[in-house]
Amino acid sequence: MKYQVYARHNFNKIPSYGRLSQDQIQNINVVSEVLPFKTNNYVVNELIDWDNYLDDPMYILNFPQKSMLKLSQFQTLSQMLRNNTPKTELAKYVHEIRLNLNPHPAGQLEHNVPTLNNGDQLTGIQHKYRETMLFFPTQGQTCHAYCTFCFRWPQFTGLNEMKFAMKQPNLMVAYLKENPFITDILFTGGDPMVMKTSIFEKYINAILEADLPQLKTIRIGTKSLSFWPYRFTTDPDAQDMLDLFERVTDQGIHLAFMSHFNHHRELETDALKEAVARIQKTGAQIRTQSPLLRNINDDPNVWATMWRKQVDLGMIPYYMFVARDTGAQSYFGVTLEKAHHIFNEAYQRVSGICRTVRGPSMSAGPGKVRIVGITELQGEKVFVLEFLQGRDPGWVGKPFFAAFNQEAYWLDDLVPAFGESEFFFEKEYKKLLKVDKLPAGHMLKTVNQQYA
Ligand SMILES: *Cc1c(COP(=O)(O)O)cnc(C)c1O
Ligand code: SF4
Repeated sequence: MKYQVYARHNFNKIPSYGRLSQDQIQNINVVSEVLPFKTNNYVVNELIDWDNYLDDPMYILNFPQKSMLKLSQFQTLSQMLRNNTPKTELAKYVHEIRLNLNPHPAGQLEHNVPTLNNGDQLTGIQHKYRETMLFFPTQGQTCHAYCTFCFRWPQFTGLNEMKFAMKQPNLMVAYLKENPFITDILFTGGDPMVMKTSIFEKYINAILEADLPQLKTIRIGTKSLSFWPYRFTTDPDAQDMLDLFERVTDQGIHLAFMSHFNHHRELETDALKEAVARIQKTGAQIRTQSPLLRNINDDPNVWATMWRKQVDLGMIPYYMFVARDTGAQSYFGVTLEKAHHIFNEAYQRVSGICRTVRGPSMSAGPGKVRIVGITELQGEKVFVLEFLQGRDPGWVGKPFFAAFNQEAYWLDDLVPAFGESEFFFEKEYKKLLKVDKLPAGHMLKTVNQQYA
């Protein structure tokens, strides 16, 4: 199958274009001035249900929606387009909206930039949890299609372009050598599987040749199985990629293919099934993760079905994330209360084999925080929380409590229960950040959340 991208400039070539209403076409034209829009022939021809496209999760996943902008922004921009506003003026206004939506305001990115002993800054690496290093290769900073909820759009639009990404495999290896606690390297992006095998191989070879006894797992965070399964079947270098996977597993390194799925529909095509079987034959294991998204998968049935289908295909359900603020929070956001109910109901409907999944989890500044439950203690209704990952590994697995709040969407909407002045980890968190007072919004300060 030949990959055909559809974006702003050519979406009128989509075979089902004639089904789009004039309103939808207008919405796409306006919103895609601001937010990146990219889909492809697989998504459009094999995933989207065009008979019900307006409510279709696969359509919403790729096609810009009007309410992803503020109404006033949408209206101003429509007007400007109608009036054929000069390009520079239009670009200025678009930039203004983007700055407004930007989930990584200035200064936040620098927080997690590690350095080598010689002082070199490594902008393409994030090392937040002791055992796991995230790596952003320069050539993997795009995806086979763009999720409309993705918070990485500043990378795709050039707003934060140069901030994350690294070209030199040798710097990555140098960092691994200096940090013997790291057992896992996680390739992320964008999507590292957009790289040609010949490029991706350079990074993998550097790791294999360095012969690092501490390194147990190579993870690949990717949505390629969902957006372009032909990457592993008919693409010209598909077999080369599979051979590379096999070289990794042959060396006794665990290859964890961290696959992002949002809906069971993505698991139903023949192309997907064939790709999964081929990857599994290399000895790689596929784990799955997804954010919980209003308008896409905010239904326990969708999750229970998704986990079951994943297990049927030999995959291991891994994480359910709470959707972080991406700029379109009002469109995709789910309250913590609802997130807990959806997770629990879905979890109760599946057998123990599917219950390897953990969530709903917020990737926040101090760590990954899971909502364990909602209960009443000492006469107060509370959220029971725990760290799945912490900046300090000692925080993990200790239940802690926040006052129940029906309106909460994220950790920074919560305060400690029982009238306590701070959560148990805050003192040490401040010490780790070297600040006296936690800045506003600090709970959101995570540069990366591994969706893909
Ligand atoms: C999620 C995440 C990881 C991986 O955590 P696991 O719990 O081991 O899957 C690593 N680094 C960052 C920054 C993360 O957000
Ligand atoms: S969520 Fe992942 S696959 Fe989707 S656009 Fe973002 S990085 Fe790409």
